[in-house]
Amino acid sequence: MTPRVILHADMDAFYASVEQRDRPELRGLALVVGGKPPRGVVAAASYEARRFGIRSAMPSVEALRRCPELVFLPGDMAKYSRESKRIFAIFARYSPDVEPLSLDEAFIDVTHCLRALGDAPPLEIARRLKADVLRETGLCVSVGIGPVKMIAKIASDASKPDGLLEVQPGDVRSFLAPLPIGRLWGVGPVTEAALLRAGLATVGALAQLDVSDLARRAARVGGGCTPVALERLWRLARGEDARGVEPDREARSYGEENTFAEDVHDLRTLGDAIGQHAEAVARRLRKDQVAGTVVRLKVKSTERLATPGKYRQYSRQESLPEATDDGATIARTARALLARGDLPLPVRLIGVAVAGIRPRAASMGEQMSIFAPPRARELNRALDTITARFGTGAVRRGTGGADKASPTLGVKRGE
Ligand SMILES: [Mg+2]
Repeated sequence: MTPRVILHADMDAFYASVEQRDRPELRGLALVVGGKPPRGVVAAASYEARRFGIRSAMPSVEALRRCPELVFLPGDMAKYSRESKRIFAIFARYSPDVEPLSLDEAFIDVTHCLRALGDAPPLEIARRLKADVLRETGLCVSVGIGPVKMIAKIASDASKPDGLLEVQPGDVRSFLAPLPIGRLWGVGPVTEAALLRAGLATVGALAQLDVSDLARRAARVGGGCTPVALERLWRLARGEDARGVEPDREARSYGEENTFAEDVHDLRTLGDAIGQHAEAVARRLRKDQVAGTVVRLKVKSTERLATPGKYRQYSRQESLPEATDDGATIARTARALLARGDLPLPVRLIGVAVAGIRPRAASMGEQMSIFAPPRARELNRALDTITARFGTGAVRRGTGGADKASPTLGVKRGE
């Protein structure tokens, strides 16, 4: 099998660069797009601001402390969305297989387009892409090239700004080897700590393990790192990853559901289960930096169908005015669907899903939440941090009596 050629294209300091392009007086200045102190957060920082250690998601108070001359701009989401469309139209000329990650970032699989692109080497194709973007938008994009997505992304990050870096299939192992273990996809804070304790500090240290040794190692690593999980990381550390570019990524939905140990009659228990599912779905949305506009409630009744083991199923959905990644909003919408009263009790199974998925930054609600983060956003961030550290049972929203957990919440990944 010929190796894939995947580009990861990522605009440099996107919002800040758009502002500096349009307002020449801002060029060369340390500036951020985001909310002002005391409550604001940095959404994007110019490279001049980054020299002071200012990064996106940093509280604006801290950013100002690091650079008293810092310029704050409120940002113009409609403009950034327009620019994003132009940039993605350029990406689409290089391949139909474009997977958006956010407003300004995408994987582009050109494996099957090399002929159509004149049989040029991948590096030359990436150079053309960069030149097209610069000429047509006046903005800089960094491009990483690799045989798997993770490597292309690390390569673009490593080469910023105005970067271009190709990691050829033969160089994958040596490229990955020195990276800290936390750079591997799928290694969160808990796994990272466990791997460090087991002496696996770099990607190379993991990649060097013998496959026959992995099960024993997994037992030593602990921290929820099963042999299967460790083997998946081990493959990734060796640059082996079957996941392709997913052009239809937005079409997916995120769902969680559970079958109750006993049929459930009371709405309170169903409402509690909805709350927990909604939070789990929201966490996954935030982790993937996406949001959705459609909330679906799925209910399986106790009415048997002719096919043995099958029960009648109902689903209701509601469209939201704005995309959301907020568990409370999802739960409220799903509970309202339940409260419509046209679903038969008792219930065997209940599920909550969010569809209409889009990159979070492109969603309407983001304008508010990036630039003037409401309490929900801060709360969600705190929830994510605690959950990453202590697991999903560690924290639950106080929704008044929601603590009475539903009988069996063996949550199954839906869809
Ligand atoms: Mg970017």
